[in-house]
Amino acid sequence: MSISLQQPALHDLTKLERIGAHSHIRGLGLDDHLNPRPVGSGMVGQTKARRAAGLILKMVQEGRIAGRAILMAGPAGSGKTAIAMGMAQELGPDVPFTSIAASEVYSLSMSKTEALTQAFRRSIGVQIKEETEIIEGEVVEIQIDRSLTGATKTGKLTLKTTDMETVYDLGNKMIDSLTKEKVLAGDVIAIDKASGRISKLGRSFARSRDYDAMGADTKFVQCPEGEIQKRREVTHTISLHEIDVINSRTQGFLALFAGDTGEISPELRDQIDTKINEWREESKATLTPGILFIDEVHMLDIECFSFINRKLEEELAPIVVMASNRGMAKVRGTGYKAPHGLPVDLLDRVMIVRTGPYSADEIEGIIKIRCQEEDTSISNEAVAVLTKMAQETTLRYALQLISCADVLARRRKAKEVDRQDLQRAYVYFNDEKRSAQWLREQGGGLLV
Ligand code: ATP
Repeated sequence: MSISLQQPALHDLTKLERIGAHSHIRGLGLDDHLNPRPVGSGMVGQTKARRAAGLILKMVQEGRIAGRAILMAGPAGSGKTAIAMGMAQELGPDVPFTSIAASEVYSLSMSKTEALTQAFRRSIGVQIKEETEIIEGEVVEIQIDRSLTGATKTGKLTLKTTDMETVYDLGNKMIDSLTKEKVLAGDVIAIDKASGRISKLGRSFARSRDYDAMGADTKFVQCPEGEIQKRREVTHTISLHEIDVINSRTQGFLALFAGDTGEISPELRDQIDTKINEWREESKATLTPGILFIDEVHMLDIECFSFINRKLEEELAPIVVMASNRGMAKVRGTGYKAPHGLPVDLLDRVMIVRTGPYSADEIEGIIKIRCQEEDTSISNEAVAVLTKMAQETTLRYALQLISCADVLARRRKAKEVDRQDLQRAYVYFNDEKRSAQWLREQGGGLLV
């Protein structure tokens, strides 16, 4: 079986950056000896748990452990997800990190075990080494022929270098934006024979972004003998799940972007695993187990837990990091209670990392970091008020008030958020305690 790894390049996607709940987290904030800085990379306090997370990362990066499970247990808002996000940031692009909420496994489009299998395979990276032929040469002449057929412009780009002549059929793509300025006579360029991509050597945009714009269907038409050829080893990283989807006849690669991949047959996965094992033996590929983060893990049921238990025994299982804010809770699908809602046989094999409540100073530190992240100026007095609110309600509630208070401050044309903005936001939006109190006063129900 030949398996495909090709994903088409997508261009000109406009990205809208939003400030998410954890966007201030840039890492775990540890020094070279894995000791946590009191405040670092957007993280504050929770030093024991951060250190534990750092140790786990180290073991993952050194390839020393696979198939371990970690449970982060602690009260709501104590930074379990924040620490997982910090781990993801530290891992870098070549080690996969997948984050799911346990309730995502319940869907009509696939079984629970299929959803979990996909999450596991998304968390295993495949590094594929490929040798590619690079042709280098000095550009002596450039020609761009444009012609107008009806409303469509078509064209050809001819690059003559000291060693070759290359003709690109541009179809109706990007003709207007492609000018000679991008490649000048005298430039030294390299052309990747396989992909046809051109890059200017020794220039800042050698990553050939401009030339990607020529489109994925650009053809490498002519390549005469005698060119200077070099071999270069390139490594692509892709997850096992992406390979599954790309090779699934019913889904195809577009499902990767739609996010709706449906079920993938076990036979296809077996074929892919066999092929990848061959590549590993030939040293063409390496597999890197990454991290699978399962938030609200107590929402999984006994079948999911037993599936995870078995999966963890596989040679290349990722590290599974789970988070729960439950104490003794019923294990879903059974009649019994267990710590954190996890069955005891699974609990027995997990390493438990505890997160605890924050001190006032730590809460203040987190609030200040969030204000910076949200670009909100805030008075010292308002920070003190918000800290108090966080202690009396929850940290998450207090953090959410920042953007509301910011809107209110701007409405009254103030330069910074002040106590009064927070007080108004506090009146408009109830926290959980006040909402519960109000419901009690209403006799417990809303529907009449
Ligand atoms: P839950 O059990 O409800 O899922 P959690 O323990 O996962 O809660 P988080 O969602 O991580 O809590 O924390 C709530 C908010 O506080 C998030 O915006 C998070 O980024 C921030 N936060 C929590 N702990 C820290 C920390 N130590 N440093 C910086 N920010 C933090």
